[in-house]
Amino acid sequence: MNLLEKVLEYIFLPSCGVCGKLGEGYLCKECEKELNKYTINCNDFKQKTDILHIFQYKELIRKLIIQYKFNNKSYLYKTFCEFIVKNKKAFDFIKSYDIIIPVPMHNRKKALRGYNQSELIAKELAKTAKIKIFTDVLIKTRNNKVQSSLNKQDRKNNVKDVYKLVKKEKIYNKKVLIFDDIYTTGATIEACKKEILTANVKSVGILTLAKDLL
Ligand SMILES: [Zn+2]
Repeated sequence: MNLLEKVLEYIFLPSCGVCGKLGEGYLCKECEKELNKYTINCNDFKQKTDILHIFQYKELIRKLIIQYKFNNKSYLYKTFCEFIVKNKKAFDFIKSYDIIIPVPMHNRKKALRGYNQSELIAKELAKTAKIKIFTDVLIKTRNNKVQSSLNKQDRKNNVKDVYKLVKKEKIYNKKVLIFDDIYTTGATIEACKKEILTANVKSVGILTLAKDLL
């Protein structure tokens, strides 16, 4: 944190993104307990795996993510990150990678929303875990349909050839973690993974904020 950020944080005391309580950072203890009820495998995350989903996409989590994406509550990324970083297993998982790449959003859509929700979270995680974040390596070449409006087969076709790797050398021989907000059928993130694997990386992992158990 630079001096300006410290001063700003002092003036604008952080509040809990879920309930608004002041003085306990971006996630108060009570809400943390509440969020803990929705974790999937962070707490009993024993075996070595390359996929980690933090929450189940339902009830409170679903509500928060929808607010985060569509109701302009971009500040919620701080709350999500605070939760993830405090979870030792999840944080260790992130730190075991060299680079994090958020699933890209098409430029036009990003301009419309004002932010890429996955990028905000990935940036904060990268900063805390001291790993690199690249947002210019994987790009979205066209503005396709919204995945949630489609069935499983159509989702696969919808993301076909949509993501493109443009600076392969930046991730050569690295351990790359792809980050997305919601995992449903996995079509989006698998399409990204397939593209990243063409760059001779050391390994590719997947991290999502939530998984829709359907
Ligand atoms: Zn709270």
